[in-house]
Amino acid sequence: MDAKAYTEKILASIRECSPGQTEFYQAATEVFESLVPLLEEEKRYQEHSILERIVLPERTIIFRVTWMDDSNTIRTNLGYRVQFNSTLGPYKGGLRFHPSVNLGIVKFLGFEQIFKNALTNLQIGGGKGGSNFDPKGKSDAEVMRFCQAFMNELHRHIGQTRDVPAGDIGVGAREIGYLFGQYKLLTAHFEGIVTGKGIGWGGSFGRREATGYGSVYFAEHILNRHGDEIKGKRCAVSGAGNVATYTIEKLHSMGAIPISCSDSRGTIHHPKGIDVKTLKAIKEVGRESLAKYAELHPDATYIPLHNYPEGGHAVWTLPCDVAFPSATQNELNFVDAKNLVANGCILVNEGANMPTTPDAYEYLRAHGVLFGPAKAANAGGVAVSQLEMAQNASMQRWSFAEVDTRLFGIMKNIFDTAYATSKEFGDEGNLLMGANIAGFRKVADAMIDEGAV
Ligand code: NAP
Repeated sequence: MDAKAYTEKILASIRECSPGQTEFYQAATEVFESLVPLLEEEKRYQEHSILERIVLPERTIIFRVTWMDDSNTIRTNLGYRVQFNSTLGPYKGGLRFHPSVNLGIVKFLGFEQIFKNALTNLQIGGGKGGSNFDPKGKSDAEVMRFCQAFMNELHRHIGQTRDVPAGDIGVGAREIGYLFGQYKLLTAHFEGIVTGKGIGWGGSFGRREATGYGSVYFAEHILNRHGDEIKGKRCAVSGAGNVATYTIEKLHSMGAIPISCSDSRGTIHHPKGIDVKTLKAIKEVGRESLAKYAELHPDATYIPLHNYPEGGHAVWTLPCDVAFPSATQNELNFVDAKNLVANGCILVNEGANMPTTPDAYEYLRAHGVLFGPAKAANAGGVAVSQLEMAQNASMQRWSFAEVDTRLFGIMKNIFDTAYATSKEFGDEGNLLMGANIAGFRKVADAMIDEGAV
């Protein structure tokens, strides 16, 4: 069967066996379309049924989470852990707590994670998990009881050489602490079964910052290749969580101007540069709305959701040189891509997972906008998670500077690999294709070596 027909056959089989999993289908389509030139050259992937196997998680765990709220009412949520692929190492990937979480979302994230982790060149497989639990508006005690109930089931399936979750949307240092504490209570083992731990109890310096810092390093590597640099660039950033905050912090330190941030209720435009201290105080500490930012900085503008442009996002209407979508999937659509191009944006660098819709990506590409794909651009978080695992396993602690230097090198390596692969397959600079092929090839070759399992 020719390569295109092979990919189409497998995509059709996903639709049939995973109905309604739109985001998973979107993620698989993007990867498979990139793989056609490789599959044309290398028939052995088809002979070993790699695509048939790689789209199926090795294991999918779905469980009930029962917990008590502050008024002693019994509440229930669904918990998920998709152990997608362990060819290169223990399953590794975050947990997301957000009301929108369902099996399709977890599978899209887990699928992406396989190739992202392969790109880091570290020994980690791909997995993802989460719950439709919404931490927003819950007390600390409620979040703790939920995390404990979640771990009551999850602990049976994870382990430091088996599956090592981390954070994602709605799961930060607080949640990781409660999850870790409950694992320890249940098993009587102090071991690195999650990453993103506190510095005082097994965490790594630089893990909190890693995804955002790594994303900016990746953008710098892209710009350097084109004889340019991030210094002096006006950067539009979406999101106001972990990834966005540390993207903004690193942009400042590299001499760029991060002009925006956003949360689920609105956008802040601050032309002279987002104040990181205020942002952290509002979101990390206070867990409040960004509306407060404009009260503290009168020269900044708050754009509430109801004033967003028709069919688009306010962040992407701001004139900028570089865009860093760093909130959630499909947050940059066709309308947004048109606005960015019209305003002179030269690079879109994905901090979030799959933030750019396929039609927006095509429009950006057709208009010569450079593109840092999520799998590569936001791989810094999982890379430093693996460094945390390495420190735990060897009972060592590396300095912030040492971790940051390694992160910079890892991001450079990922860039070089994606770039070289794009060149090898005749589309130099197409980093989306380069990252997909390079990540896939590493996993697929190892799958062949490991036999029909
Ligand atoms: P986070 O700390 O929970 O922050 C998420 C931010 O995005 C918040 O500002 C949130 O607004 C906003 N947001 C979330 N869902 C939204 C929605 N449906 N509509 C509009 N705004 C939304 O999460 P994070 O860790 O920064 O993750 C952000 C993205 O990066 C995700 O795509 C994640 O998968 C990806 N990522 C994260 C890591 C990591 O190490 N954390 C690594 C790789 C990739 P509110 O404040 O109003 O909730």
